[in-house]
Amino acid sequence: MVAQSSGLDIRNVSVRYGELLAVDDVSMTVEPGAVLALLGPSGSGKSSLLRAIAGLEPLATGEVLWDGVDLSGTKVHRRNFGFVFQNAQLFATMDVGHNIAYGLTKLPRSKRPERVREMLDLVGLEGYENRKVTELSGGQAQRVALARSLAPSPRALLLDEPLSALDRNLRDHLADELSRILRTVGTTAIHVTHDQDEASTIADTVAVMDHGRLLQRDTPDVLWRSPASKDVARFLGFTAFLDADAAHHLGWRGQLSEENVLGIGPRSLELDDDGVALPITSQGFALGEVEVGVRLPDGQLSTVTALERIDGEQVRVRLVSGAVTPMTSPR
Ligand code: ADP
Ligand code: MG
Repeated sequence: MVAQSSGLDIRNVSVRYGELLAVDDVSMTVEPGAVLALLGPSGSGKSSLLRAIAGLEPLATGEVLWDGVDLSGTKVHRRNFGFVFQNAQLFATMDVGHNIAYGLTKLPRSKRPERVREMLDLVGLEGYENRKVTELSGGQAQRVALARSLAPSPRALLLDEPLSALDRNLRDHLADELSRILRTVGTTAIHVTHDQDEASTIADTVAVMDHGRLLQRDTPDVLWRSPASKDVARFLGFTAFLDADAAHHLGWRGQLSEENVLGIGPRSLELDDDGVALPITSQGFALGEVEVGVRLPDGQLSTVTALERIDGEQVRVRLVSGAVTPMTSPR
């Protein structure tokens, strides 16, 4: 059979470690130039799937194709994929420039310094050629790792939690940067992360995995507005689910059919002096704001964000948004 798609085509891929089915019959395509995030909790099989795509892990079932060609006979280094891992894994004995030039074996020696310079500009490290890698910060080391992996113009880039070891502020900043860089280069990419916001920042589409299975694949927008199941919604941070009546009682103005419930997440409730009074269950600081825990009328718990601590035992809120979620899951 001749495959129709171009780009990366993952068909019914499973990965097994003895008894454990780490990746369970996953199929999806990644169009040329598209950026896909693989999002899921720790242990959900993201790295195993990425390694299977790279050829680093044998497939128990299925196939991985590029432009319609089955890669099973193609060795890892011949697949022409670039890798970036959580730890930059730079060569400590080489300077930054030589690390980036490392994979440029196909480029004439005289052309390599220019390519290195181009890559350093791309990742915002102009003039860093002669720096020792041992003198780089964590964020700089990841930029160098990215430059190194992009230098040979791989046909796809596979990133396994490249920002997860960095602290929160740096991570947010580099996620924006990475998004810009991937689009500048136009490379096809799969970015593995357990961070929902990071996935939405970086990717055109997000594939949510749990227990080795692909639960949903959609644009960030669709994913957040209409998760495919309560499991997906919970993973995205929607902690409570309300039917239409309960949602309208809290001031929500949307429509909800009987098969659906409204997932209530961190930004669904807003403070409103004319809103419904709810008992406060907790108050905690998060990133310069106060996260106020509230008990919904039916007993479920949720949160509302305030600028400062609230005096008193109640807070008035309005329900302004939520995720339309199927009451029961398809499988
Ligand atoms: P994630 O990247 O989403 O955290 P992994 O793909 O690393 O998930 O792991 C999926 C499951 O497979 C986990 O239960 C993990 O413990 C198991 N696993 C991963 N690698 C191996 C391995 N080399 N041998 C045995 N089990 C493994
Ligand atoms: Mg992993």
